[in-house]
Amino acid sequence: MPLTVKTRRKRSTRIAVTVLSGLLPILLGFAILYFQAGRALEQSTHLTAEEAIRQFDLMLDNTAQAARELLPLAGQSCLDVNLALREQVTRRPFVRSTNLVWDDINYCSSLFGDFREKIDTGDYSTGKLLLMKGNLVTPDTAVLVYRISEGKKGALSTLDGYHLSNVLRMIGRSTVLMLQVGPNWLSADGQFHQDALPTLQVAQTRLDSSRYAFSVTAGFPEGETWRYMSSEYPPLFSLLIFFGAVSGLIGHVLQKRSSSPSHELQRALEAAEFVPYFQPVVHGANKQWSGAEVLMRWNHPKEGLVRPDLFIPFAEHSGLIVPMTRSLMQQTAQLLAPVSSSFNGPFHVGINITASHCKDLELVEDCREFLNAFSPGAIHLVLELTERELIEPTAITLQLFEQLHALGVMIAIDDFGTGHSSLGYLRQFNVDFLKIDQSFVAMIGADALSRHILDSIIELSAKLDLGIVAEGVETEEQSDYLTAHGVNFLQGYLYGRPMTGADFIDALSHH
Ligand code: C2E
Ligand code: CA
Ligand code: CA
Repeated sequence: MPLTVKTRRKRSTRIAVTVLSGLLPILLGFAILYFQAGRALEQSTHLTAEEAIRQFDLMLDNTAQAARELLPLAGQSCLDVNLALREQVTRRPFVRSTNLVWDDINYCSSLFGDFREKIDTGDYSTGKLLLMKGNLVTPDTAVLVYRISEGKKGALSTLDGYHLSNVLRMIGRSTVLMLQVGPNWLSADGQFHQDALPTLQVAQTRLDSSRYAFSVTAGFPEGETWRYMSSEYPPLFSLLIFFGAVSGLIGHVLQKRSSSPSHELQRALEAAEFVPYFQPVVHGANKQWSGAEVLMRWNHPKEGLVRPDLFIPFAEHSGLIVPMTRSLMQQTAQLLAPVSSSFNGPFHVGINITASHCKDLELVEDCREFLNAFSPGAIHLVLELTERELIEPTAITLQLFEQLHALGVMIAIDDFGTGHSSLGYLRQFNVDFLKIDQSFVAMIGADALSRHILDSIIELSAKLDLGIVAEGVETEEQSDYLTAHGVNFLQGYLYGRPMTGADFIDALSHH
């Protein structure tokens, strides 16, 4: 089964975040402006309705005055009072006609003189106000009738609908205004209606007169909010779009800044730019090649070969170290498997692992797939864990190392002597090898104190009954010293520098 490399971050996600950071302030600002426009329109309809009520109240004051002055004349003969009725019509600007009533019979009219018509007081709102479609003379012009009564006496004065619709039109302008009296209502075009008032979609307000039995409804048809916004807010829209663009740009730059190293690593991983280099590890006794450490190199298209300490910290930080190591193991298996039959006994293959790689059990699968590429017993897979970065013994890590152990994977503590691993730590994780850090090897031939430190480390390793590998062996003197002190394995420039896979396989055939 081939090892697979999983990718982590997607370009489409980054584009989506940039677009979102640009759109969010625009949408938010738009929502606030929409809300603000609604508020402004509500205020406007309220003011308009208030003004209409004030005007109608004034007109009704005038009309009611005529009826009040005529009331004492009710009961007298129509012939005697007809002139008084007409005088009110002439004197009052809004009064169209006046009538006298006796015992709910309208018996005298300013227009027709003697008259006889039963009035139904129930038609009048609070017994005082009635909106009618028209009268006998002008059946198509609405009239508002004001009624006053005292015992059997009664007087009516009518207000011309023409004046009413004029007020609705002039005060309303773009606002839809309606005057309602009881079940009847009048629109700004002077039409009389008896059906239910229409619902206005935007900012509908209804106000009752505190003095007469009528109400005024104001509002706007659907779409007014958008129309209002497009006429009032264009400068704010430009500002919003500007903010959106700036915010989108900031989002883009921030993302680029925060993700660019890992983005570059991701690109390099997909382009297979991370390649394994191999450095031989030799037997202390006979200097035969017993294995190799796999060291990562970045074959950068512009920078050339990049050292691992320059990019491994970024890879760890972004979590890409896991797929990168997986890719390295895959390439190593592809290179070594074809020549594994020529190995003289189990060949040790050291792979460097970081603590972040040990957070879950994924590593077990990676190792299993690596081992499956070879015939059984051909190699020993050794995972190198640096002592600088100790692994916490959690339930998961302990389970991980148990499963790795069961697979036959060996564990080496890298850079031994530079960290603080305890005896308990070495036991807990079933450690097989200690790799003495090259800084101690470099002390050979130096002062007595430094050598004493190296001797103690070698002694300690021997007591722990673990395999010992000395790193950074550069001279014959170091090699002789280490061999004489029983160090089993040696690694360093003296035996071979890290080399490409092709060079390593070529050199392997000579060892
Ligand atoms: P390390 O694991 O301690 O690897 C040994 C380093 O010592 C290598 O450096 C090697 O080239 C160098 N070295 C070997 N022999 C000698 C010698 O005789 N003299 C001197 N002066 N140096 C010698 P390199 O390849 O640059 O790697 C540096 C570090 O990067 C490694 O230290 C390891 O910690 C890390 N690294 C390398 N590859 C990987 C990888 O695949 N995964 C992870 N997680 N870390 C890696
Ligand atoms: Ca190592
Ligand atoms: Ca080391």
